[in-house]
Amino acid sequence: MSDLLERLRGRGWRLTAQRRVVAEVLNGDHVHYTADEVHALATSRLPEISRATVYNTLGELVSLGEVIEVSTDGRAKRYDPNAHHDHHHLVCSRCGTIRDVHPAGNPLSDLPEQERFGFAVTAVEVTYRGVCPSCASA
Ligand SMILES: [Zn+2]
Ligand SMILES: [Zn+2]
Repeated sequence: MSDLLERLRGRGWRLTAQRRVVAEVLNGDHVHYTADEVHALATSRLPEISRATVYNTLGELVSLGEVIEVSTDGRAKRYDPNAHHDHHHLVCSRCGTIRDVHPAGNPLSDLPEQERFGFAVTAVEVTYRGVCPSCASA
């Protein structure tokens, strides 16, 4: 469970009605919404919330390090509240469903020395692709 709201409260982040709604939309597991999706979901809870407020709030959450930007399909950036646990993504190539996954090995240390070209390698992002069970049975 990503306890985004709790983390923000713990940091003393001023929770206005607008910010709270954005944080509530992003609370949960396997959450990877585009900014437009966050805006649509936020609007259903707080009809007057503007797109600009949603975008600004997302930007703040990213600079706080409480939300990470994910780009799994090379198109829209997605916002992921699972910011404190290293994870990778499993993406359905039909419906776009995204799951947070944790490989058994460590993809960072798995890169052989001769493939590092002298770089001090500090991060790795892996995207696994496939077909999810509901698409497979459709
Ligand atoms: Zn699918
Ligand atoms: Zn994720």
